[in-house]
Amino acid sequence: MMKGKRFLSLPVFSVLLLMGFVYCITVFVFIEDWIGLQSSPGTLNAFVFSILASLCLFSFFICVLTDPGHVPSSYIPDVEDRGISGLGTAQNSTEQKKCDKCFAYKPPRTHHCRVCRRCVLRMDHHCSWINNCVGYRNYKAFFVLALYATIASIYSTVIFISCVLQKDWELVRGTPLKIFYVICGVTLFTLTGSLSTLSGWHVYLVLRNKTTIEYYEGKRAKWLARKSGQSYRHPFNLGAYKNITMILGPNMLTWLWPTAISHLKNGLDFPMLRDSP
Ligand SMILES: [Zn+2]
Ligand SMILES: [Zn+2]
Repeated sequence: MMKGKRFLSLPVFSVLLLMGFVYCITVFVFIEDWIGLQSSPGTLNAFVFSILASLCLFSFFICVLTDPGHVPSSYIPDVEDRGISGLGTAQNSTEQKKCDKCFAYKPPRTHHCRVCRRCVLRMDHHCSWINNCVGYRNYKAFFVLALYATIASIYSTVIFISCVLQKDWELVRGTPLKIFYVICGVTLFTLTGSLSTLSGWHVYLVLRNKTTIEYYEGKRAKWLARKSGQSYRHPFNLGAYKNITMILGPNMLTWLWPTAISHLKNGLDFPMLRDSP
């Protein structure tokens, strides 16, 4: 299997290892130490955390295995779309959007990834942790993964804190155990901090229907527009609710299910705000 080869990477392996580590310490050390796995609150917490962990693992697999979307070899831009670069500046409207590495036309929002050595539809960024590009077809899985991972790490941190607070440290003999708790604490707090930042950032992007690349392009476009006394607006922002449904799907019940992507089309064109005449 070609796609299976994506797992043969150190960062992907590290993520799996980290997930396994956090899962084991949360369930078998902290829940056990805090209320005991045999007690009903202990079992319930372990059960809920296991579901969260499974959702993380499943979304992670989908992110790694799903092709982010490639440009069909037959793609030729519509005459009408030729000026659309996603930036809408005068300079771009006269110039054809062609990839100088693939020598093929680039649909709007498509970018060339140097790591994948190809053009990726609605490219967000290349992510080493999944050894894959985050693009049109796996962005939802990536977004959902970030959310689940954030919730799981917050959950784990809360259990860790509860465990540490009720533990009688006077009775704990042996420095290695204390060091172990410190290492776990540092890992969990760092993880929670970085995952919350990542999720917050992507919630902002989803609400604006922007990709990470478009955010930086937009900053430049805004600056250029201001210099010439014009204003710039992200052309794919159709309003928060519509933006969410474009990315997560029209059915609210499947918003958080990573494989529910039947609402996605070919990724070659996107509804956008036309400038009013
Ligand atoms: Zn390319
Ligand atoms: Zn890539």
